[in-house]
Amino acid sequence: MPLCCRLCFGWDSSGGGGTTPIKADIVGSVSSSLPNSFTHNPLSGLNMVTVNLRATTVAAVLTVLADQTTATCPSGFSWENNVLTKAAINSTTNAELFDFGPVEGTPASSTIIGGIPRPRCKTFPGDPLWPSNSVWNLLNLTLGGALIKTVPLAAPCYSDWPQYDAAQCEYVKTNWNRPQLHVEDPTSAMFPLWQGQTCMPLDHPSQIYDNCTLGGYASYSVAVTKVSQIQLALNFARATNIRLVVKNTGHDFADKSMGAGSLSVWTHKLKDIQYIPDYTCNGHSGPALKLGSGVETEEVYQAAEAHNVTVVGGECRTVGMAGGYIAGGGHSPMSSLVGMGADQVLSLDIVLPNGRFVTASQSSYPDLFWALRGGGGSTYGVVTSVTVKAYPQIPVSTLGFVFGTSPNVTADTFWAGVEAYTTYFDTFTAVGAYGYWLIVNIGPGQFFFSMNPLWGGNMTLVQFQPLIQPFLDDLANLGISIDPVWNEYPSLYQAHSGTFPPENVGGADNRAASRLFPKDNFINPTKRNETMAAVRYAVEAGGILIGYNIRAAPNSAVNQTNSVNPAWRETTGFFILAAAWPADASPTVIQAQSNILTNDWMARWRQVSPGAGSYLSEGDINEPNWQQSFYGSHYPRLLQLKKKYDPTGLFYAHTAVGSEDWEVEGQLPGLPTQNGRLCKKP
Ligand SMILES: Cc1cc2nc3c(=O)[nH]c(=O)nc-3n(C[C@H](O)[C@H](O)[C@H](O)COP(=O)(O)OP(=O)(O)OC[C@H]3O[C@@H](n4cnc5c(N)ncnc54)[C@H](O)[C@@H]3O)c2cc1C
Repeated sequence: MPLCCRLCFGWDSSGGGGTTPIKADIVGSVSSSLPNSFTHNPLSGLNMVTVNLRATTVAAVLTVLADQTTATCPSGFSWENNVLTKAAINSTTNAELFDFGPVEGTPASSTIIGGIPRPRCKTFPGDPLWPSNSVWNLLNLTLGGALIKTVPLAAPCYSDWPQYDAAQCEYVKTNWNRPQLHVEDPTSAMFPLWQGQTCMPLDHPSQIYDNCTLGGYASYSVAVTKVSQIQLALNFARATNIRLVVKNTGHDFADKSMGAGSLSVWTHKLKDIQYIPDYTCNGHSGPALKLGSGVETEEVYQAAEAHNVTVVGGECRTVGMAGGYIAGGGHSPMSSLVGMGADQVLSLDIVLPNGRFVTASQSSYPDLFWALRGGGGSTYGVVTSVTVKAYPQIPVSTLGFVFGTSPNVTADTFWAGVEAYTTYFDTFTAVGAYGYWLIVNIGPGQFFFSMNPLWGGNMTLVQFQPLIQPFLDDLANLGISIDPVWNEYPSLYQAHSGTFPPENVGGADNRAASRLFPKDNFINPTKRNETMAAVRYAVEAGGILIGYNIRAAPNSAVNQTNSVNPAWRETTGFFILAAAWPADASPTVIQAQSNILTNDWMARWRQVSPGAGSYLSEGDINEPNWQQSFYGSHYPRLLQLKKKYDPTGLFYAHTAVGSEDWEVEGQLPGLPTQNGRLCKKP
């Protein structure tokens, strides 16, 4: 005899109709406490609906999720063959919670579950319509136990959290600035400013609040290991009108992988890498790598090394290659040779906002294929895997050196040395070289330059040194002496491991903006003078400059007709500028410094590069006219496709395509955290 229960959608009902309260625990121990069926009702005043969820039918869903072959070229990973079908949904009595959305391109449903007209705001914790613990438990059961209730990463530091643990707190504190700590957490991201710093490790220099709340963290995450779980999560979020976010590693400069009151799809566990020596699909033949969307850059480089090939990836070891990196365009030490990361894509597998799982390639969903390569993450669906072209293994030569102001090198001479470098930007990138460097202000009128490294892809030292020597001669003629460190490596992986410094994240004491300077800014002497004056102004005022001498090389071997910001195709100088403040600065101080970054320093950079752009994955959270800056002339088409594939706005991220229609409530001007409720603008 099944035990029947009844609850309102937003709360467990222990009264009314003589029903028995559900005693389901928080996610983690659901199966024993789950009732065989229950009913949940929208609040009074709205039409009553009944959604029965039987444990037996939930089990049936999991059974009907039979493995079936999905993508054919290349074939899917085994977990990509575990998909949700209409038959599986129909076999339950709870179809409303997990049903697919309308086919793309058809009108969006104007109602959510229960026939309720779609509200202006996403449902938020504490709202009457927020699912009860029991409903979350049912979701967890349906997901096969993959749902995680958020515990902030630094909760072990707070005695009012059950997870309080001094030793664990010490571990979190010690490792807070390491990317990997945040990569391995379901909800944490690397820029705590946008989370609201509501739960920093205790005694961290950036701690300004002494309490620990969820802040901008998602409420729940799904640690996905198969496609069906992503489909179920998307369908559930759409039906219940809950904000959805996608978290991979949490590297995005604007913390686009988090949001208060959201259900997060956490892709970290999708780690498969398949080497395909003779990929022959989508008009391409040759070696390729298929990457699960949780794979990090260094893991890809290692796999490529094992198969004696080279793959285009970023400079940071832990960035998610098939997640935000490719979605944003993806710059690489290889870019001056073969183009952007997004240019290398042969096909992508993706769960669409309507819950359907499809392959996007030149021949399948070609409009989506165009948009997914540069149009930004968290916009058109959840990418599950990406297949990218692989190149033969190449030698890489590198050069590292530093110089700075000194009794022999005045500030003017220092800047003349920097300008001398910029005169070679076009020459170096034209033959495939790339430079990654840093300039910091180390005191009034004192500056420091570090080359980390200058990189010659597909060059031996014998080829690389003569290319670079004229620049070193210029430095010597200016009286700037350096101690060059030359190296030659047999592969990208070895050069990458041997040269790029580890990166620090997790600080709330700075934030960044970026500019893609067109090559003419360094070729034309007048423009170069203006550009260098604007750059020097910002660094003299305290800005920290991370520079790249890079181009997105044209490459007829790949499909470069994609949505990568056209500004990338014009650039030879990609400059990131950070403003800093004391670690314990108040929001007022941060707002003031933040304002200087956007409206003074960067305004001057924009003024000397009218019509150029910025890199959306490493951009200013307050970028003015961000549609033009981050997406350029592609924006109208990207927006049209957003409306086609995601008409109800299931996917949202700050400055993502279509995000102008939405706002996160309760923001301090100029300090946009993810801590509030997401609402459609009136
Ligand atoms: C230290 C550091 C170094 C960096 N180095 C480089 C570099 O060398 N080259 C470069 O181009 N960029 C670099 N970046 C920027 C980086 O590429 C972007 O932040 C990128 O968006 C990270 O993607 P992710 O998936 O790892 O991170 P996340 O922050 O988890 O995701 C970024 C965005 O993509 C979305 N997303 C993630 N996975 C998916 C998915 N499977 N489907 C749909 N949407 C998804 C998220 O929702 C979010 O909006 C660096 C950033 C940092 C902090």
